[in-house]
Amino acid sequence: MLAAVCALAVAALFLFSCLYPALSRASALDEAKDARDKAKEELEAIKSNKADLVKDYANFDAQLTAVEDEIESLTNDINSTKTALEKKKAELEEAEANTKAYEEDFKTRARIMYENGSTSYLEVLFGAASFGDFLERVEIVGSIINYDRDILDRYVYNQNVINNAKTEMETLLAQQEEQQTSLGYRQEELELLLEKQQALIDELSENEDLAAKAYAAAEKKYEEEERKAQEEIRRSQLSYLASTYTGGKFQWPAPSGTRITSPFGYRNHPLSHTYSLHRGIDIATAYGTDVVAAEDGIVTIAKHNGSYGKYIVINHGNGYTTLYAHNSQLLVSVGETVKRGQVIAKAGSTGNSTGPHCHFEVSYNGNLQNPLDYLN
Ligand SMILES: [Zn+2]
Repeated sequence: MLAAVCALAVAALFLFSCLYPALSRASALDEAKDARDKAKEELEAIKSNKADLVKDYANFDAQLTAVEDEIESLTNDINSTKTALEKKKAELEEAEANTKAYEEDFKTRARIMYENGSTSYLEVLFGAASFGDFLERVEIVGSIINYDRDILDRYVYNQNVINNAKTEMETLLAQQEEQQTSLGYRQEELELLLEKQQALIDELSENEDLAAKAYAAAEKKYEEEERKAQEEIRRSQLSYLASTYTGGKFQWPAPSGTRITSPFGYRNHPLSHTYSLHRGIDIATAYGTDVVAAEDGIVTIAKHNGSYGKYIVINHGNGYTTLYAHNSQLLVSVGETVKRGQVIAKAGSTGNSTGPHCHFEVSYNGNLQNPLDYLN
């Protein structure tokens, strides 16, 4: 009893020590993968943040350009308003001078007329030869006075028009300058925003560089672990295969069928009707019955193709492989180790086939063998 317990303990220890490297390798690979995925996530997050910041920056930059354009066009407007205003001021000065001159002129004329009498309106009137002449002279004198007043009125009116235009221009200039000031504030504000945004982007760029380096390192580490894991698998497969098939008969691959419907060798193909090599033997089976591994080994192919349908190839070591074709369903995958007699597929009629059967091949160092030589 004690011996049995001891033997069991030793066996367990042996099994554990055999399995342990593979387990630690698997967990190192998982850890490396997690670390890589996390590093990638961090990098993506930074990139996405940075993209947002860059987008905001571009938006502020566009706003700044618009404000600068506006300021430029407003400055032009202000300059032309100023020029027009200067012109208007000059015009006003001239109009004022004209008015004044005319007033002076008018006063002088009135004074002269009053002082020397000879040309005074009254003399003109009283110097009339007849009543008709008098009326004519009244009219003329009135006309002259009205004419003078009209001209003076026109001068004053013109002066007022110019003055009003000048006032309007001054108001416009004040408005434009006020707008320019507020645009200047907005410009400063945007420039400050852009500066801050640029600083944030620079900071994120540094973080991005670090994260990219961390990701590259994690990726490299993961690839290294993966390579080690693959090597481990390959090594264990090689050592497994080296100790596998050492001769003796294979197991019959289709336990439910015994009848061989087509032997190995040259034959007239039932579908193509050409004389060709039949690469294995066909064992009649019912649809869905078990197909089993002929010997211990490692699955090297488990897939579908046009002629074999769903098929499996098993490497048994020492140069031997077997092939199982036309299955309805595959139950093992590439890289899996299988035991002699293990169900690996369900029989069917996939690929180039006329009915459910198991097409079975044996190869030695890549050369087809007659399977019957290896079966009981
Ligand atoms: Zn066949």
